[in-house]
Amino acid sequence: RKSTVVITGASSGVGLYAAKAFARRGWHVVMACRDLVKAEKAAQEVGIPKDSYTLMHIDLGSLDSVRQFVNNFRASGQSLDAVVGNAAIYMPLIKEPLRSPEGYELTMTTNHLGHFLLCKLLLEDLKKSPAADKRMVILGTVTHNPDELGGKIPPRPDLGELEGFVAGFKAPISMIDGKKFEPVKAYKDSKVCNVLTMRELHRRYHESTGITFTSLYPGCVAETPLFRNHYPLFQKLFPLFQKYITGGYVSQELAGERVAAVVIEPEYKQSGAYWSWGNRQKKEGKSFVQRVSPQARDDAKAERLWDLSEKLVGLA
Ligand code: NDP
Repeated sequence: RKSTVVITGASSGVGLYAAKAFARRGWHVVMACRDLVKAEKAAQEVGIPKDSYTLMHIDLGSLDSVRQFVNNFRASGQSLDAVVGNAAIYMPLIKEPLRSPEGYELTMTTNHLGHFLLCKLLLEDLKKSPAADKRMVILGTVTHNPDELGGKIPPRPDLGELEGFVAGFKAPISMIDGKKFEPVKAYKDSKVCNVLTMRELHRRYHESTGITFTSLYPGCVAETPLFRNHYPLFQKLFPLFQKYITGGYVSQELAGERVAAVVIEPEYKQSGAYWSWGNRQKKEGKSFVQRVSPQARDDAKAERLWDLSEKLVGLA
């Protein structure tokens, strides 16, 4: 039996190259994407062998779609060995919040609530799987952490007391802290939520299920289309800046390899860990477990975020 991994957002960037890395290591990849035509084309362009992937539709910006994906996955009869929560949107230039069909702000829905629901539902499938080593990995980022150079640039993430979630997260509310809409902060907030979710999954389920829950910062993958909604000049200069000034630049290929390694390699079987290769990429640089930001390691916040997220996605 081939091992199977579900990767969200495998139609571009880190997710696409992670899919390629998994296929190369003999895994079957369920590419969970919102645009299947684009995903198919991308898979062929990077040379993923046809028999090593399945395309399945998911729109993480719609909670109904997430549920539908899980139903479809279950109906396909595959058993599940690993999940990679990778998809994300970053919309730095929008002035007004976009909304999910439920009426929630779209960046937080796509990056956090959609993955929260997906991970909670697929946990059941992982539990049932006969595999000895099962893992669930959510992508983090350095910008979640103001203790790091890459995380110091304002606006900084701040979940406040989760006032926006408490109030139901629908218009006029658009931010988790209930404050004024700020799209860059919404992205960073959502990535803090990703790390908190991973740590809370670990706290709640690692011991009873044996599943390994981790997060990683693969490096600054400056050439992915994540920055497609930024100014064109930014898109041109950012990779150069990361290559020659900060030294944080990582190719999409290498970032994909890192994701696959965290899911497959024995050295990454440490549940609750957040893996990093540092900000300056050195040749043969080694990964290490990094301390996450004060907000992202706040256990009380993780628990409250969990409860409120359950309510918003309709699980509580
Ligand atoms: P990309 O924009 O290249 O890829 C994002 C993927 O998510 C695409 O496949 C996109 O689909 C998909 N996606 C977006 N919205 C949805 C949705 N509603 N439903 C389903 N899929 C969706 O970005 P990256 O590869 O750079 O980012 C991947 C992850 O890596 C993110 O979690 C990001 O936070 C993280 N990361 C990235 C870093 C970087 O420097 N690039 C650094 C650290 C972390 P589509 O192709 O249809 O748009």
